[in-house]
Amino acid sequence: MASRPPNVLPAAPSLKTILRSPPSLPRPIAVDPASGPWSGELQHWLDALPQPVWLARSDLELLSFNAALCRLLGQPSEALRKRRLSDWLPDGDAELLRQACAGREALALELRLRATDGHLRWQSCRASPLLLDGEPLWLGTLHDIDASHRAQARWEEADETWKLALESTGDGVWDWRLDRGVETFSRRYLEIYGYDPDEIEQRPETFDALTHPDDVEQMERDRQAHFEGRTPIYRNEHRVRCKDGRWKWVLSRGMVISRDAQGRPLRMVGTHTDITERKQAEALIWQHAHMDPLTGLPNRRLLRERLSQALNQHRPLAVLFIDLDHFKEVNDTLGHGKGDLLLQQAAQRIQDCLQPHDIVARMGGDEFTVVLQHRPDRAAVEQTVRRLLARVSEVYLLERERAFVSASLGISLYPDDGEHIETLFKHADQALYVAKDAGRNRFAYFTPELHRAALHRVRLGMDLREALQRRQLRLVYQPIVDLRSGALRKAEALLRWAHPERGEVSPAEFIPIAETSGLILEIGEWLFDEALRTLVHWRRKGLSDLRLSLNKSPLQFLGAGDGPQRWLARLAEHGLPPQALTLEITEGLLLEGGEAVSAQLNALREAGIKLALDDFGTGYSSLAYLQRHRIDAIKIDRSFVHELAPHSRALALCRTIVSLAHELGMEVIAEGVETPEQLELLRAMGCDMGQGFLFARPLEAADLPRWLAERPARP
Ligand code: C2E
Ligand code: MG
Ligand code: MG
Repeated sequence: MASRPPNVLPAAPSLKTILRSPPSLPRPIAVDPASGPWSGELQHWLDALPQPVWLARSDLELLSFNAALCRLLGQPSEALRKRRLSDWLPDGDAELLRQACAGREALALELRLRATDGHLRWQSCRASPLLLDGEPLWLGTLHDIDASHRAQARWEEADETWKLALESTGDGVWDWRLDRGVETFSRRYLEIYGYDPDEIEQRPETFDALTHPDDVEQMERDRQAHFEGRTPIYRNEHRVRCKDGRWKWVLSRGMVISRDAQGRPLRMVGTHTDITERKQAEALIWQHAHMDPLTGLPNRRLLRERLSQALNQHRPLAVLFIDLDHFKEVNDTLGHGKGDLLLQQAAQRIQDCLQPHDIVARMGGDEFTVVLQHRPDRAAVEQTVRRLLARVSEVYLLERERAFVSASLGISLYPDDGEHIETLFKHADQALYVAKDAGRNRFAYFTPELHRAALHRVRLGMDLREALQRRQLRLVYQPIVDLRSGALRKAEALLRWAHPERGEVSPAEFIPIAETSGLILEIGEWLFDEALRTLVHWRRKGLSDLRLSLNKSPLQFLGAGDGPQRWLARLAEHGLPPQALTLEITEGLLLEGGEAVSAQLNALREAGIKLALDDFGTGYSSLAYLQRHRIDAIKIDRSFVHELAPHSRALALCRTIVSLAHELGMEVIAEGVETPEQLELLRAMGCDMGQGFLFARPLEAADLPRWLAERPARP
C-alpha cells in the first residue's frame, strides 16, 4: 500500500462503512400535511439542539432543518431552503447518500461535508425514511466525527511508517483485519512472489490459496495457537506459489495487535521473510546425509531412521538384505561407468517391486536393504521376494552392452527374529550368507540354527586368537605326484588346529573365521616361515627337488601389506629358489582383486614363483580370467574327480578342462584322487599331477620322508 501525505484523507469509497446492523427504527409514519413539514413550535425546540437535524425529499432537497445545520454549513436558513443537502458533499459522498436514499432502509453513513470554513469535515449521518402525504421523505441527523477520523488517519499514517521500516529489512509486510476480512500486503511482500500490487486481490483467502497444501495444516495450528494466546508470536514456515509457478519458502511471523472485548483477534500484522535459500541449503545437507547420490535411494542412516519409526508401530515386518551376485565382474570388465548404470537400474527395479509403505535403501556397493511392511504372512513376503529376484536378474542394457547379474537375499522377520534394528540386520545378513553359499540367485530366511552357528563362529574366532601363541596350530603336508612317472613333485601344506576342547578343527571351518577377523595375515606369516623351514630341512635330507605348495587367502594379497615382496625376501633368507614355491590361489582373488592384485601376481611369477588355481570348477570358472592372468597350473576340484566314471559328465568336463589348460600352457592337478579307477581315467586324459588319499593323506612333516621311502614305485 502506498503512503499518503499526512493531511489528505483517504478517498471516500474506500472508507465507506455501511453499518451492518442499523439501530432499530420506528416503522415509517405518516405526517399530518395540515401542520406543514415542521410546526413553528417544533422548529423552536429543534433549533435549541446542538446537533444538525434535517428533513429532505428523496432527491435530498431540504424541506426543513434546524439552526445547527445552518451553523455547520455557514448559511442563513433562507439560503438553504430548496437547496439539496448533497450540494455540500463532495461528488463521491453525494452519490453514496443519493444511492442510500433511493432505498427505503434506515441509513447510517460516514460522509464529508463542506463546512463554513470551506473545509471538509467528517460527519456521521443517520436518517430514517418517512411518508408525508404519500411522498417519501428522509428525516436525519448529523454528528461531527471529524476529530476521531483525523486521529485514525494519523494512526494509519504511522502504520505506513513502521511498515516501511519493516520492509527495509527485505521482508514483506502483511496487515490482516480479521474484523473486516481484509488483508493488505506491502509492495515488497508481493515482490517476493513476483506479483504487481494491482494484479492481486488483497484478501486473506488469496494467499491462503497459494500456500502449499502440505503446509496448510501446520499453518492453521500455529495460527490457532497464537490466537488462543498459547504462543506470544505467530511463527510458521511454509511454501507459497509464485507467479511463475515456482514454490518459495517463507518464514511468516506476526502477532495480534488488537482484540475485541471477548479476546477475539481483530487485527494481526506481521512479515514474510524469504527463506528459500536457507531451505535449499538445509535440504541439500539433509540430502547429503540421508540419500545415496548414485541411486537417489535413502542411505543406511535414513533407513535406520525410517525403520526405527516403523518398529515403533509394533507391527510385523520383514528386513531383506540384498546383494548383487558377480557385480564386481561387471565393474571389472565393463568399467565403473557401466557398473554405476547397472546399480541405478537395479535400484529402480527393486523399487518397482515394492509397495508405497515399504522402505528401500542402498547400503553401499552392491548392497541394498528393503523393509517390507503390511504383509499379512510369509507367503506375501515371499511373493515380493521372488518377484524381486526375478526382476533383478533380467538382462541389463548398459548403453550398448548387455549384462546379467542376479541377487542373493537374506530375510529376517520382526518380531520373530529380533526386536531391534541391530539384531534384525545381523540376522538378515547371516541369512544372506546362507543364500550366497547355497549358490546365489536365491533367498534364505534367518533361522535359530544360523544364529547358533554364528555364535559358534564368534567363540571359535576368540579361541583362534590364542591358538597361535599356544602353539595349537601346525602344518601337515600332502604329497602331489606326477601321474605319468608316479614321482613326488610337491607337497601341499595344510593347516591343522588342535583345539584343547573341541579336538581337531577343520581348516574349512576356521580359515573363513581367520579371514573375517584378519587373523589370517598373522597366521599366514607364521605358516610361511614354518613351511619354508620344513622344506629346507627335507631338501637337506636328500629331497633336493621337492617343492612346496602353499594356500594363500585372497586377503593376503588384497591387504595394504607388502606381502609378495616379503615372501621373496624370506625365500632368499632360507636359501630357497623361487621355483621351489607354488602359491595356490582362488578364482575369487582373480575376480575381485582388480589391477593391483594382477600386478602383484605378475611380479611373483616373473620372480619365478609358480601360481596354481585351487578348486577349479567350484567357483565362477570363468575362462576369461584364465586367459587374462598367467597361471601355471589349475587344480581340478575333488568334487569332479569324485564323480569320475566312464562316460560320465564329470569325465567330459575334466577332459575339457585338461585340454583347455594345456592349450593355455598350464598344467593340471587332480585333487582328491581316491581310487585306482579315477587315477586311470585321469592318466588317460593326460592330467599331469594328482593328489589324494590314494597316494597319501596329509602327513606330519617328519612322516613324509618315511612315506616316500616306503611307497611302491607306482601305485
Ligand atoms: P584345498 O587347498 O583344496 O586342500 C585340499 C583339501 O582336500 C584338504 O582338506 C585335504 O585334506 C583334502 N583332501 C586331499 N585328498 C583328499 C581325498 O582324497 N579325499 C578327500 N575327501 N579329501 C582330500 P583340508 O586339509 O581339510 O583343507 C581344506 C581347505 O582349507 C583347503 O582346501 C584350503 O582351501 C584350506 N586351507 C588349508 N590349509 C590352508 C592354509 O594354510 N591357508 C589357507 N589360506 N587355506 C588353507
Ligand atoms: Mg589347496
Ligand atoms: Mg583344493
